[in-house]
Amino acid sequence: MEVIETIAAFRQVRAQYGQLGFVPTMGYLHEGHLSLARLARDTCGSVAASIFVNPTQFGPTEDFARYPRSFERDLDLLRQEKVDLVFAPAVSEIYPEGFYTFVDVEHVTDTLEGAVRPGHFRGVATVVCKLFNIVQPTHAYFGQKDAQQTVVIRQMVRDLALPVEVVIVPTVREADGLAMSSRNAYLAPEERQAATVLYRALTTAQQAYQAGERNGAALRSVMQQVLAAEPLAHTEYVSVAHPTTLRALDEVGETGALLSMAVRIGATRLIDNVILP
Ligand code: AMP
Repeated sequence: MEVIETIAAFRQVRAQYGQLGFVPTMGYLHEGHLSLARLARDTCGSVAASIFVNPTQFGPTEDFARYPRSFERDLDLLRQEKVDLVFAPAVSEIYPEGFYTFVDVEHVTDTLEGAVRPGHFRGVATVVCKLFNIVQPTHAYFGQKDAQQTVVIRQMVRDLALPVEVVIVPTVREADGLAMSSRNAYLAPEERQAATVLYRALTTAQQAYQAGERNGAALRSVMQQVLAAEPLAHTEYVSVAHPTTLRALDEVGETGALLSMAVRIGATRLIDNVILP
């Protein structure tokens, strides 16, 4: 496995590969990230991963400075997954002095995370576009855990005719249902226990849907009630939205729905989602 820090060096090495799967990450890797790497290796033969905590996708009051980092351990895990190339640039390599160009994906960023984290998806789209230009993958792998991110990336790839096939991978969960996330490391033991409420709320709404409930407000209320019963949980939003436009739904129809939420457990902000049906 080669670990590469500069754009110039990556371009040289890239030329030796044909089909290449790409897994962009912010490091502090867990099974969710590794499932993306595994699928990339199985379908593409060769895999590149990036480890880059991207400052432009964090708001001024968010956790960029204290985002968990474990670089050497991450490299060991990627080596075990037989990843070929790791791109781990410094911030100044991606955003040198005089960096003035950003990618702004409109409409699908108006709701959900985009509504409460202004500028977040501008940072995500910009860094992913730049990483695509450096890595030049044939396939790129993203987790369903970040549902709106998958929609934003697909939209960008379509709008800018980026020559890459985007593959979405199901959310990997802990045994008790909590979606794996680097931010779970922030949780104190009692908070970790309380964090199971997100998936419980989602599956309770899923059961209501299976029992015939199609009303958006009713499904939102099911999720809110489950969340309200957990004293450590503070709900930022719950949503029943169209799976591709991400607009709130009054009724769940033929196209199904994305059930999603952002919840604070203590100081830690967690997101999760499931897709109906
Ligand atoms: P991050 O390091 O949080 O930026 O995540 C890098 C990639 O891993 C993104 O495409 C995420 O959606 C994906 N990912 C994060 N957590 C999970 C999970 N629990 N299951 C599947 N994919 C995940």
